[in-house]
Amino acid sequence: MGETGCLDKIDCAIWSEESGKLETNRAVSMSSATSYRHLLEVRNLETQFHTNFGVIRAVDGVDLHIDEGETVGLVGESGCGKSVAALSIVRLVPDPPGRIVNGEILFEGQDLLRLSMREMRHVRGGNIGIIFQEPLTSLNPVLSIERQIVEPLQEHLGMTRQQASSRAQELLDMVGIPDPSARMRDYPHMMSGGQRQRIMIAIALSCNPRLLIADEATTALDVTIQAQILELMKELTERLGTALLMITHNLGVVARYADRVCVMYAGKIREVAPSEELYGNPRHPYTLGLLGAVPRLDARRESGKLTQIPGEVPDPTILPGGCAFHPRCDYAVALCGVEDPGVEEVGEGHGVACWEWEGVG
Ligand code: SF4
Repeated sequence: MGETGCLDKIDCAIWSEESGKLETNRAVSMSSATSYRHLLEVRNLETQFHTNFGVIRAVDGVDLHIDEGETVGLVGESGCGKSVAALSIVRLVPDPPGRIVNGEILFEGQDLLRLSMREMRHVRGGNIGIIFQEPLTSLNPVLSIERQIVEPLQEHLGMTRQQASSRAQELLDMVGIPDPSARMRDYPHMMSGGQRQRIMIAIALSCNPRLLIADEATTALDVTIQAQILELMKELTERLGTALLMITHNLGVVARYADRVCVMYAGKIREVAPSEELYGNPRHPYTLGLLGAVPRLDARRESGKLTQIPGEVPDPTILPGGCAFHPRCDYAVALCGVEDPGVEEVGEGHGVACWEWEGVG
């Protein structure tokens, strides 16, 4: 990338008065794309929280990447570190008590950890959009919907108030809000949960980001609305060519949408594979356990109950030695309690961190 930083490319996305459209000048960014391997590449990321109860290694040496236009699922039980990984990528880990202590977060070849907070503000909401789980707490309750969409457009794309307002209407229409010109004057509490999440999607996509991070974006919604929002996110990111990092505890959710899946446990990536391979040929006992817990409509009634992973996610201040999953693992051998396996390539694009992976499945 040389001296071409993120800010140069953000400035390439501007509102064109001549065409009346958002000119993202993706050709410029795509040509720069040849100088780095992945749109986002996280290397050996470590994020810790220093608490009265000890040091929590929430993210402990995570490597992952996302390519242009790709959808990647990051999956694991609550407390496995996936949300902290997402917050680390956009530098929103509360400090103190949290701190990124090691690693690199290369976005378009630029290490986000080296940017100033001012530069990071341009990246967030500009080239990286974020959607959190609960839109009611993400949206400002005392500002109208219009204001909350218009401000990032003015800030990141340099639009005038009038241009931004007209673009905001288009965005609301794009995410399926009926009568957008009237609804723009509403406040968040006047909308349903599904509508609020649609607004969050509109805001996150407003500046035509290259990467969208959706952190449990549908968990707070009922299943029907959840399906609608997932379809909407997938359709819009495909149409706009935006890469999507989908963070969820539910392997069933990512099965339909992700190109690749990373499975996380106790702060580490334990398995990564293209979706079809992961669902068809899981090689880590934890992945197997998560898959067994997903209800299937095609399962025979007499085939019995859903399986569950025994035990609980370990206390993050006193993680078991060796492989942190060993107290819950049916495949554990003596070595598992002593030494943590690194991720080993077991197939094309398929990595597993398990001493016994050959016997799993
Ligand atoms: Fe289970 Fe051992 Fe594999 Fe860990 S390394 S998942 S304990 S078999």
